[in-house]
Amino acid sequence: MRQYIIAGNWKMNKTNREALEFITELKAIMPATKAQVVVCAPFTALSDLVKATEGSNIAIGAENMSSKDSGAFTGEISPLMLKDLGVKYVILGHSERREIFKETDACINAKVKAAITHGLTPLFCIGETLTQREAGHLVSVLKTQINGGLEGLMADDMKKVVIAYEPVWAIGTGVTATTAQADEAHVVVRNIVSAMFNASVAANVQIQYGGSMNAANAEELLGKENVDGGLIGGASLKAADFVKIIAAAK
Ligand code: PEP
Repeated sequence: MRQYIIAGNWKMNKTNREALEFITELKAIMPATKAQVVVCAPFTALSDLVKATEGSNIAIGAENMSSKDSGAFTGEISPLMLKDLGVKYVILGHSERREIFKETDACINAKVKAAITHGLTPLFCIGETLTQREAGHLVSVLKTQINGGLEGLMADDMKKVVIAYEPVWAIGTGVTATTAQADEAHVVVRNIVSAMFNASVAANVQIQYGGSMNAANAEELLGKENVDGGLIGGASLKAADFVKIIAAAK
């Protein structure tokens, strides 16, 4: 049985004060849930968010990190620094990092390995653009991203990896994949993971859907057999919206 994982991705939003206000409200209205709830926040808010969520079932994640432990990498944040704060998750390979910051599969692979080495769970993001989907390249794009991003991992390492399928055309656009499109793509992901590792890894790996998931469409998406959770951008910024998505994971 795969557990649901509902993770917010705040992107470059919220000051430290706003982050703490959100967590206070979230804790007050948090529904009873068996889902793992994660809030991924800007680096500046992580320390206080970890302290504010101690003893709760809300885990804190970062939105990116360096693959290096330390050194002359001005402006970077290392896995050791995140671990030291009590951060548990890290989003890696988000399409905005791939597109705007030109992160390659090899660079994301190094980060995934570093996260596993340091006991952080990567939310490893993959997804196709609209042009790629329309050209019939969904499977080959996902295969390249998965094979490249997870290269060198052992089957056992996959117990510590969450995959987030995020069609780029659905991120921040208000256009959501249909439940059929999401489920189909998740099956494609499981098949690629099965070929790369084995059938048991593919059956057990948690796959989140991301791309304009919100309070209105979450229940339907999360009801699909292969959808094990959500990575939520815009709708994770207000606690009242986020809890509706958490409540839909049942
Ligand atoms: C995201 O940033 O990962 C995301 C899915 O954003 P949104 O929910 O706003 O589409």
